[in-house]
Amino acid sequence: MNNSGSVLNGINTTRVLGNIDGSKNSPTVVIFAGIHGNEIAGVKASKIVLHKIKENNISFKGNLFVLLGNIKALKNNIRFEDVDLNRIWNKENITANFNIDRVNFSELSEQKEIYAKIKSIMQNNNGPFYFIDLHTTSAHSVPFITISDSLNNRRFSRKFPLPVVLGIEEYLDGPLLTFINEFGHIALGFEGGQHHDEGSIANCEAFIWKALVHSKCVSKKNIPDYKKYKNHLANLCCKYDFFEIIYRYALEDGEDFIMNPGFKNFEHVKKHQLLAKNGGLPIIANKDSRIFMPLYQEQGEDGYFLLSKISKFWLNSSIVVRRLKINHFLRLIPGVNKDPDNNYTLIVDPKIAKYMAKEIFHLFGYRKQIFKDDKYHFIKRDRNKTEMI
Ligand SMILES: [Zn+2]
Repeated sequence: MNNSGSVLNGINTTRVLGNIDGSKNSPTVVIFAGIHGNEIAGVKASKIVLHKIKENNISFKGNLFVLLGNIKALKNNIRFEDVDLNRIWNKENITANFNIDRVNFSELSEQKEIYAKIKSIMQNNNGPFYFIDLHTTSAHSVPFITISDSLNNRRFSRKFPLPVVLGIEEYLDGPLLTFINEFGHIALGFEGGQHHDEGSIANCEAFIWKALVHSKCVSKKNIPDYKKYKNHLANLCCKYDFFEIIYRYALEDGEDFIMNPGFKNFEHVKKHQLLAKNGGLPIIANKDSRIFMPLYQEQGEDGYFLLSKISKFWLNSSIVVRRLKINHFLRLIPGVNKDPDNNYTLIVDPKIAKYMAKEIFHLFGYRKQIFKDDKYHFIKRDRNKTEMI
């Protein structure tokens, strides 16, 4: 395959960019790079890490797989061809995709291959499994982590000196990591900085080394310059705070959306502050908050998000209530029932939902909220490990 002249610059474009075989009875780290085809930093950083492991003959206890994401879009240096590859991971789509021989969307055949690879990795290795999805953003940003709010994800993300954003799955349909989380595995998204910033490659590289150490794939003493990577991440950001998404500005089809220039991720915004324009009309912030993922590229369905900081008290309280498993008490409330088909879902009467703050469900670990058959469905993020469908 000839990639000369492309941003891939000679990087081969097979699905498995590389892998390191350790013992089968050990942790397995699976890295996704380039799920969005215009986000090349994660691909380059993964290639550097694979090369250094081999070149320095680094003793490796676990297994590492680096999977390329949207290969066709990577070759064309665009976010996606037909649909966003990070918005199609749900059980219905996967079942449908696997029942169709020829798929029409470019991304569906990418999904089919990635899914088959994940399944085969999980069948042939024992785990524990750690999934890492590397991204970059169109806006300038300090690097940060996104996770579904399960306690195992929180514990792992605390190992990194970076801001952590919870709850993105309530606003997005079908991110890859939310799908993986449903089977009880640790899954962290890492946003390494701006797409074209050379520093984003170094950020992704440092993140991968730390992920390999904290998953116990590699001992830090075996990594030359480990201290350098550790300090690199620590110096990027001054805060380890947890944030949650409180608002998403979703773009309508064909909307003439223009973000006001110059916003940085996590920047404070004031209520009524002008954030963007739709067809020349102002879009203002609906409360004092922080701006997150403002859209500064053509492709994308999210104009911006707003964040609020999560208090330590809330974080600790939610750990206690989830460990004690007192979420069962929620089911004693009239109008709140367990889904007979799914242990992790509560079905809530809208009249009751009106009086029970969403935050209560969040506290108990129920995040995703769907309105179906005239009822709210709240879905729990903490899971026991189960076999992937
Ligand atoms: Zn991305």
